[in-house]
Amino acid sequence: MLLAELRQQMCEYGRRAVDQGLVIGSSGNLSARDGDLVAVTPSGVQLDRLTAEACTVVDLDGYLVEGDLQPSSETPMHLAVYATTSARAIVHTHSVFGTVVATTMTELPPVHYNALMLGGVVRVAEYATYGTPELAANVRLAMEGKQAALLANHGGVTIGATLEQAFEATRLLEWLCEVYVRGLSIGKPTVLTEDQLAAVIDRSFNPPTFPRRTP
Ligand SMILES: [Zn+2]
Repeated sequence: MLLAELRQQMCEYGRRAVDQGLVIGSSGNLSARDGDLVAVTPSGVQLDRLTAEACTVVDLDGYLVEGDLQPSSETPMHLAVYATTSARAIVHTHSVFGTVVATTMTELPPVHYNALMLGGVVRVAEYATYGTPELAANVRLAMEGKQAALLANHGGVTIGATLEQAFEATRLLEWLCEVYVRGLSIGKPTVLTEDQLAAVIDRSFNPPTFPRRTP
């Protein structure tokens, strides 16, 4: 079986995505790249009931290489992102708060410094019908220089060097969207300035050290 380990990992993260409420049924998809091949979750299968055998493998041109089922309808979006980023894994969900932001805003402003882990401001890709080359192109644009993008009236997508990274980025994206949306319910969330964000980056390169106490 091609990409056996990645397909096994996709089952694990698919189950976690459902367990954590990021995905309802089959409304999300995952992929992982190894060289010229991409393992993609199949179309129409609930993500908590995936098996490695059911996952499909396509090449970078979108030809089905292995698998009895059809690959996810969002495969063109996954391939467009692989073509223009160094991503090795992609997670796409219709998580609640991500979708709320994606239906009301054109970008998610950085109100928490952890937004830097996704590239700061998260852009909302222009709406296009799911599974189309238009949506793939819009997401590719929104993803430029970022680890995440939202899809207008649809959901969110994140990338990583591994499935674990892409999955954690999806959890972070959802958390950032939830903080913003809940913030709006009691006031106007304060957006961090360029200087404040630059100071965080500077801090991450120069972390504090604490001298060990001698007995
Ligand atoms: Zn979708």
